[in-house]
Amino acid sequence: MNTSALFKIGYGLYVLTANEQGKDNGCIVNTVMQITSDPLQIAVWVNKNNYTCGMIQHTRKFNISVLTEETSFDVFKNFGYQSGQNTDKFTNFIDVKRTNNGILYITKNTNAYFSAWVQQEIDLGTHIMFIAQLIEAEVLSEKPAITYDYYQKNIKPAPQPSKKKGWRCKICGYIYEAEEIPADFICPICKHGAIDFEKI
Ligand code: FE
Repeated sequence: MNTSALFKIGYGLYVLTANEQGKDNGCIVNTVMQITSDPLQIAVWVNKNNYTCGMIQHTRKFNISVLTEETSFDVFKNFGYQSGQNTDKFTNFIDVKRTNNGILYITKNTNAYFSAWVQQEIDLGTHIMFIAQLIEAEVLSEKPAITYDYYQKNIKPAPQPSKKKGWRCKICGYIYEAEEIPADFICPICKHGAIDFEKI
């Protein structure tokens, strides 16, 4: 089986934000879609290892910012390559506004945002699927939304040659230095599993 086939599925890239007891946080997700029109519901799937996931489980609400092709790698680094558990991702990130639900959304290099209220939560093992009712939505620009494929080809820096030996995360480039990688290994940077590592 060639699991690289999974990279051929078309995905977008979004910042998923939440606020719990005054703390703002957000992470990058690639799985957001509208699932019903009456009522207007969207679904988002989030890895449980993301700090934002727990915040949404507690507060039952979130925002989605739809990133455009003009988004710089710094934005992906800020929201995707570190954890809100031990950093405030919004300290140096000023391109934000707050929606009526008290949660931030990204105002720069985003073409739309949504606020949603969680109706159902489905435990999928590694991920939680949130089904949520849309309560606010705005278009911010007509710039094309970024796809995961576009990100891989145009935004993500090419992996630097490394003298390290071991396993490289195909998602973020993190290197796990060992002969074998445990099947239950989780990338400390991007939270993807051992299946997304390649031997180097
Ligand atoms: Fe990674």
